[in-house]
Amino acid sequence: MHDKIQFFISKFKQNLLRDPAPCAYYLPRPYRSAMIRFRNCKPEDFEKRGEIIEQVGFNAFMFPAQQIPGCDLLSDSGTTTMTTEQWAALLLGDEAYGSNEGYFALREQIVRTFGSSWRQEDPLKENMFLFHQGRSAEHAFFGILWAELAEKQTPPEDHSLPDGLPPGLKARLEIGRAKTEQGYFIIPNNSHFDTTEGNVQNNCMIALNLPCKEHLQNNEEYPFRGNVDLEELELLLEHAGERIPLVYLTITNNTGGGQPVSMQNIKDVRALTRKYGIPFFFDACRFAENAWFIQKNESEYRDKSIQAIVHEMFEQVDGFHISFKKDGMVNIGGAVMIKEDGMFNQNFPGFAERLIDHQILTEGHPTYGGLAGRDLKSLAEGLRTVVRQHYLDYRIQQVIRFGRKLTDYGIPIVKPVGAHAVYIDMDRFFRGMSIRDDEFRGIAFTALLLVAGHRLCELGIYAFGKFKGGREIPPDPRVNFVRASVPRLNYEDRDLFSAAEAIRVLHEHKERIPAVDVVYGRDLNLRHFKSRFRFRD
Ligand SMILES: *Cc1c(COP(=O)(O)O)cnc(C)c1O
Repeated sequence: MHDKIQFFISKFKQNLLRDPAPCAYYLPRPYRSAMIRFRNCKPEDFEKRGEIIEQVGFNAFMFPAQQIPGCDLLSDSGTTTMTTEQWAALLLGDEAYGSNEGYFALREQIVRTFGSSWRQEDPLKENMFLFHQGRSAEHAFFGILWAELAEKQTPPEDHSLPDGLPPGLKARLEIGRAKTEQGYFIIPNNSHFDTTEGNVQNNCMIALNLPCKEHLQNNEEYPFRGNVDLEELELLLEHAGERIPLVYLTITNNTGGGQPVSMQNIKDVRALTRKYGIPFFFDACRFAENAWFIQKNESEYRDKSIQAIVHEMFEQVDGFHISFKKDGMVNIGGAVMIKEDGMFNQNFPGFAERLIDHQILTEGHPTYGGLAGRDLKSLAEGLRTVVRQHYLDYRIQQVIRFGRKLTDYGIPIVKPVGAHAVYIDMDRFFRGMSIRDDEFRGIAFTALLLVAGHRLCELGIYAFGKFKGGREIPPDPRVNFVRASVPRLNYEDRDLFSAAEAIRVLHEHKERIPAVDVVYGRDLNLRHFKSRFRFRD
């Protein structure tokens, strides 16, 4: 076994014996455990995990989950612990091929959760398009959008960027264009999620990120670092409006640190898109968590219910796509929603029909869309639960407490903490050591943390960077994070704090965290899912 692994095993062992810091709790959890699952591995099996991490080539995705005795914080996607009400709904699932019970239950719940503008009035105008997860919804959506655009308006031969854009914005459009085939049409967003960006680019469009200034300046005091830059967005709409089929906001902004978007920003984007006649969509995966931050930090919403805030948010858009694996509180599911009388339907009248054809060809009948009837029932129940005040209070404050614990231990994290995850800043973590990007120490960090018994995800230089022409191109704007995503209703604070303790051990001995060499996959697309590494001597 590599001596660096052995060194950290001795440190983790000492750590197991340390008294955990006492912490004060004034409120019990707003739920109680109705079912539990014993782990079948032990915290003290460090040597076993040390061997496994070497066998799987230091790739955290490949580490067997059942060998993780601590926190599995690889993703909050599909990892929710469902409530007993959801399990009960599963048992009542109706597996009819067409128009099963769950489909109607879900329709009703969608209107209750997202508001009356999502009620389908005309039976011939479908507004809900089910898929088995978020990215398959995106894949269908952007594929059809590109087909519709290409039919409506042949992009001109001359693709040069329009005048009147500031040089910074032009440069970013150029970078975006280099990543796609055609690069005439542009999809602006506060920040695209990785699969959304992939689906936009695969369909010949530029995925443009326009995070607000407070985001880029790392302003820790600003509560809405997920906002889009309105000035840049307006310049773009003014000078290149004919190239923009729709404008996006991702709520919360997962790529940028999981941070929320304010209602003001949402309404300002709405106003801009009305002024220029361009449809407006959400990537809505964490809509309820975003609403909680609006309630906490925008004074006029302090006394409004989460439900009312969500309704107001979704009045602003012409449609959205969503992964129900997040705030749907289920383990699988996704959808595209298109508002019946919204601007998108007016601009693309044939779109819904094509989307239904795509569903039938790839997912199944539109009334189940790649899901079992029982999944729809538990999803309806999940959408009811997720907007409950007590659930959200506990959920988000738990993630904030985890972030605070890390801060107490001197671990540099992105602040303010967003709803679903804590992002550890690797640039600041290794500050003081002269290290290079192509040493990928974030990968070594996640590998050694697995030896301690916890799993995090590198989302930085390796995940978002590219290896082209013999050199590393870092992500733009630069992100170098390791993300700790907290699954919903899964862990108690003490579990998260034990992960924080192990992270502290790594931080105290950061100079012993080695560089890694990439053994396989450095030049591949989406390389972090597939690569293999080894510790450099
Ligand atoms: C997870 C996620 C997606 C993709 O959804 P999947 O269900 O994982 O395919 C899209 N956008 C955002 C912001 C996400 O967090």
